Amino acid sequence: PSLHHEEVRRRVETDVDEFWRYMKSKLHKLRELSRGKDTELIVNAMLEDGQALHRSAVNDLYALKNVDDIDEWRLKESLELGEIIQKRLNSLQHPKNCQKAKLFVCEMKNNCGFGCQLHHVVYCMITGYANNRTVVIPATHWQYAPSGWESVFQPISAPCLQANGVFPERDGHNILRPDVSSLVGVENDFPINNDYLPLAVPDDIADRLLRFHGNPAAWWIGQFVKYLLKFQPSTQKAIEEGIKRLNWTTPIAGIHVRRTDKVNHEAGKHEVEEYMVHIDEWYGQLKERQPVLKKRVFLASDDPNVLQEVQQKYPGYDFISDQEVSKSADPRNRYQLTSLYGVLQDIILLSRCNYLVCTFSSQICRLAYELMQTYNGDASSNVQSLDDMFYFGGQTEHIMDVREPHVPREQGEIRLDWNDSVGIAGNHWNGYSKGRNRRTGETGLFLAYKIKDRLKRAKMPLYNVKES
Ligand code: GDP
Repeated sequence: PSLHHEEVRRRVETDVDEFWRYMKSKLHKLRELSRGKDTELIVNAMLEDGQALHRSAVNDLYALKNVDDIDEWRLKESLELGEIIQKRLNSLQHPKNCQKAKLFVCEMKNNCGFGCQLHHVVYCMITGYANNRTVVIPATHWQYAPSGWESVFQPISAPCLQANGVFPERDGHNILRPDVSSLVGVENDFPINNDYLPLAVPDDIADRLLRFHGNPAAWWIGQFVKYLLKFQPSTQKAIEEGIKRLNWTTPIAGIHVRRTDKVNHEAGKHEVEEYMVHIDEWYGQLKERQPVLKKRVFLASDDPNVLQEVQQKYPGYDFISDQEVSKSADPRNRYQLTSLYGVLQDIILLSRCNYLVCTFSSQICRLAYELMQTYNGDASSNVQSLDDMFYFGGQTEHIMDVREPHVPREQGEIRLDWNDSVGIAGNHWNGYSKGRNRRTGETGLFLAYKIKDRLKRAKMPLYNVKES
């Protein structure tokens, strides 16, 4: 299919979803106002039939996406381009002479969860890629694994592996030591620009990527996650044994319920019902495409009580979850090796789900989404977030273009005109999005379908590795 065809098809997908989100949210309000009145029955019928119509449209679009087996082509493209990026990363990270190579030291000093730390290394790697520098991790004590990164993962740069706590001597300006806890140092060290940061993708692969994928930035970030998640045999064994206990089969949907320390500090609490509404809808769609013998849901959570709750509330579902893993995710146990194995197992399994509901405010959910892209053709719409839109910590402003003007109707809404663009703040998943009109400076709500993504391209080194 041409790029134009794919862009139009993805637009229709978004329009269908935004339309139904809008209608559903308004109909719910209308139902509240019609309680006990004759109109209540009509509203109920509209909700039920609207849902069925939406499901039908989604399934038609699903079929359209794979007409003439285009999905096979997408998968081939995704794997081929992925292979190219992996080769480039390998070559960048394995310089022939580490004494001469320009290094970029990625310190692991910040005290945050595993997802936060892994994303931090991704940030370093993207900076390294864009500036032609080999990234190295100092072999200091690491809170998750006392014997360091390499005791769990394969070294990210075997030739430049640190020996005895000292990197090879070199002249000062060839080695960069950004202040990692704030990352401000990175910008200071590269004052030229930071246009390479997500959600930008390298200009030389942008066209190819945009043709087969609906969220190029997530695919691109996913390649770095994939590069980093190469395990040592002991890690591999621990994770495989964990997965074996779970009796994993597909098709399967997944939910990541982030609780404990996150709730009320960094993110709101979402009840299991909010997740399951989407899972219900997804299984409703799947049933029209293929027989579904058992509705299976993989549950990952840092709160071991969630499993019992969903089992009680949803007896029609088979929930699969590793209770040992959820227990080890307790904030008090968090920085231990067993906890690290557990969270790795959960991230991998979440990324293997055919459909996933989670909160993009959580780095675990975003990691699973990013990783998911690397072994699918286009899984950009296989995840539903209950809060944020997809983002990358430290990203530059996410700009979207206006495709239709918006005239404010209610308080809190802002005007959008032709040719305006917005710095997007979030989608409220009720038909509305929030953002800042970059021309007027006003921040507020508008109908979500009225804006569309603008892909940011950044010139990066070309890495002429043999890309057979
Ligand atoms: P965030 O706080 O959710 O954005 O993600 P972080 O990875 O930065 O910190 C959360 C930490 O909580 C993780 O690193 C895990 O240790 C733990 N955690 C959160 N959710 C899960 C889960 O579903 N499974 C497991 N095993 N651990 C989790």
